[in-house]
Amino acid sequence: MKAVFKFGKKFDHNGKSSRIPGFYKLDLSQRLDKLNDWYKLTRNEKWMLKKETLTPELADMMIENAIGVFGIPLGIAVNLRLNNKDYLVPMAIEESSVVAAASNAARLIRENGIMVGQATEPIMISQIQIVDVEDPETARQKILDNKERLLSVANQNDFTIVRLGGGARNIEVEILETISGPMIIANLLVDCRDAMGANIVNTMAENLGPIIADLVDGNVICQIVSNLSDRRLVKIKFTLDNVDCLARAGYSGKDAAERLVKAYHFADADPHRAATHNKGVMNGIDGVLIATGNDWRAVEAGVHAYAARDGRYKPVTKYYFDEEGKLNGEIEIPMAIGIVGGITKIHPGVKILLKMINVETASEIAQVIAAAGLVQNFAAIWTLATEGIQKGHMTLHAKNVAVFAGAIGEMAIKIANQMAHEGRVRFDRAKELIKHFMIKERCEDPKHKDDQECKDYNPFKLLDNNNKN
Ligand code: NAD
Repeated sequence: MKAVFKFGKKFDHNGKSSRIPGFYKLDLSQRLDKLNDWYKLTRNEKWMLKKETLTPELADMMIENAIGVFGIPLGIAVNLRLNNKDYLVPMAIEESSVVAAASNAARLIRENGIMVGQATEPIMISQIQIVDVEDPETARQKILDNKERLLSVANQNDFTIVRLGGGARNIEVEILETISGPMIIANLLVDCRDAMGANIVNTMAENLGPIIADLVDGNVICQIVSNLSDRRLVKIKFTLDNVDCLARAGYSGKDAAERLVKAYHFADADPHRAATHNKGVMNGIDGVLIATGNDWRAVEAGVHAYAARDGRYKPVTKYYFDEEGKLNGEIEIPMAIGIVGGITKIHPGVKILLKMINVETASEIAQVIAAAGLVQNFAAIWTLATEGIQKGHMTLHAKNVAVFAGAIGEMAIKIANQMAHEGRVRFDRAKELIKHFMIKERCEDPKHKDDQECKDYNPFKLLDNNNKN
């Protein structure tokens, strides 16, 4: 049973635009108000998103030995249009520049081209390991001969997904040569509909394991989901009608596009580069997974295993010029995620954000998440191939450096702006500037005008813009 892509189902267009010019210029409360045009947040929902979506009491129910709740910034990537539908994409992420880069690349694509997606059926794999069988080939055949009965037993474990059109679909059996001899591996394929499905398929496998072991007179060991969910794939592709929009850092759009494609060729040929390339993809993906209550470790494991499926670790996106000379970007990855199950209906923040992202099925959100990975990676490779990563990244990172050095509030912003302006985003420079701004503030108070420190103070000395290194 091969994974077959169903060409992008058209999801209902909600008539809303995720193009929100100047969203980044608003303050936090104004941004929340702006979202009203998109999704009517209640006062309580706004308060929760701003302050606290998970209470310690709920955290205590979710994991063991809970001691509290850990915060992480929550942002909205704007501008994404996929399959002719707009999405606002929530990202819970601590790394600066990701939300901005994804929003910017999504804007470029919607204004200069098109992005479409496809997904396979949401098929998860659960593996049942049987050892100590006398004749592996006969055992394999026996399992296959009993397939219909075994599938029906598996489906007794979850009437809901069967009723929804999902359920156990197939059993594939392989004889695996291992260090401890041949083993029978029965791969149970289950359509999990809108759930990620790990618990669903694990339950089915644990019930089937002993039955299969009896059938072939062997012993069962592992009965567990595979995170290489390569029957549950998504594929997203964008095409730019013209590349003038990519002109940057003195390169024409055409030159920038050519450099970008060559940067991808480097990743395609070198696993060291491919690892960082794929890290950039996951920058766009993990934040959405966290914000939507999905198991990002599971998706990470699946994506990296899929990246190495041909025996060598490769990038999961690719960039090329088609026969018409248009620039294309593509991503193909496994995406085992859900809009039901897990914590999706438990975590109060996730519940709000899933309503806001406005998807009908797990397949739809899987495509949105993969698209976020593609646009984020596109933004990163474009920057890398033109002005380099550090300039913009460090400018956005400057606030973190200022806070790290001890600045707070307005002062942190002033120091970040000054360091970005100078091109010197460094801890030692932030410390120097904190000292400078503190003396300045003190000396502006007439009470201190006769202090020696204020008499010696030269406001221009430390703000020398030419003092770059
Ligand atoms: P789950 O256990 O909450 O089960 C989902 C339930 O939702 C099912 O019982 C199903 O009957 C019901 N359901 C209702 N409406 C549905 C619909 N429209 N489509 C599908 N099901 C519907 O969740 P799950 O998705 O089976 O498991 C996900 C959880 O498993 C995650 O929290 C993950 O972290 C965890 N997990 C992961 C691994 C792994 O990845 N290796 C292993 C174990 C557990």
